[in-house]
Amino acid sequence: MQTGPTVALIVAAGQGSRSGSSTPKQFLPIGGRAMVAHAHAALATHPAIDEVVVVIGEGQQAMLHEAIGEVRHVIGGATRRESVAAGLAAIGDAAQVLIHDAARPFVPARVIDRLLAALDHLPGAIPVLPVADTLAQAGEVLGDVVPRAGLVRVQTPQAFTLAAVRDAHAAWDAGVEATDDAQMLRAIGLDVATVEGDIMLDKITYPADFAAAEARIAPMLVSRSATGYDVHRLEAGEELWLGGIRIPHDKGLSGHSDADVALHALTDALLGTIAAGDIGTHFPPSDPQWRGAASDQFLAHAASLIAARGGRIDFVDLTLICEEPKIGPHRDAMVARIAAILNLTTDRVSLKATTTERLGFTGRGEGIATQAIATVSLPRSV
Ligand code: MG
Repeated sequence: MQTGPTVALIVAAGQGSRSGSSTPKQFLPIGGRAMVAHAHAALATHPAIDEVVVVIGEGQQAMLHEAIGEVRHVIGGATRRESVAAGLAAIGDAAQVLIHDAARPFVPARVIDRLLAALDHLPGAIPVLPVADTLAQAGEVLGDVVPRAGLVRVQTPQAFTLAAVRDAHAAWDAGVEATDDAQMLRAIGLDVATVEGDIMLDKITYPADFAAAEARIAPMLVSRSATGYDVHRLEAGEELWLGGIRIPHDKGLSGHSDADVALHALTDALLGTIAAGDIGTHFPPSDPQWRGAASDQFLAHAASLIAARGGRIDFVDLTLICEEPKIGPHRDAMVARIAAILNLTTDRVSLKATTTERLGFTGRGEGIATQAIATVSLPRSV
């Protein structure tokens, strides 16, 4: 492998869509996660890749942020070639660069390994697969068969030494559109290695491709559920924070933070899905910085830990146990708030309430309890 940093560019600047949606396809979800986020996760977690830069279209910053969060990005041009050029210009002193199309969301680590190994011998390397189908000239009536012997399908990511691909772009005739960067290297007389590609890298273009991609990743995900439980004392003179909202009431919950018992139980459930301890592990009550703290940050932190492992939250369900206040009038606001904190649609958040028939501490109005359960999907390797 070359010495010096390796940077991956993801070209995600497409504006249009053959996928039947007004949202550019690279921001459409597969398995609950934007297409571009899959490719970004695969490249960013590969041990040989030091940095990932996403090239997006003008006005796509908010969609990118929604898809991945804070990530290095540059604005591309009107064509793929111009977008790649914008990305190359933004790279500092890298030795080699992987250029990848966001329309290929699944990037096996073994293909990246093969590409980078091939750069030991040549300034470029691309993944290819043999052509299995019969090829023929198109027309209203069938044309001649095109011999497929010796033909390959070309995929991305394509790997290059940064110097070579910059030279190729600099020398390219701006009036002509290039099919890919490998052909631009060939145009200046450089050889490009071919390595074995992977069907996981197949491009997603049409609506049916999305369904096929969902089916393809289903076996790679494992479902995990975990529960959480919490109790806080009701006391006069405290503000009542429950389910992430403030509720006018003559008593409030007391505790070290804002004592939002619903968010605490849900935070523990989410932490449980990744066996990451409990809320006290992450936010010790002995630490003064959490005194009176808003509990939405605890919940958001648990969600971020799941996202960092490549997981997604499928569903959460809470049961609030108290005599008062009545939960019904506040249920929709709590569901909306929890959904917003977790970046979920409200149909993935269930919130119920019950009393204990005036029995026990909840029945006597001394405190509020909450049970929660969360279900997440995690990559099978986790
Ligand atoms: Mg608590």
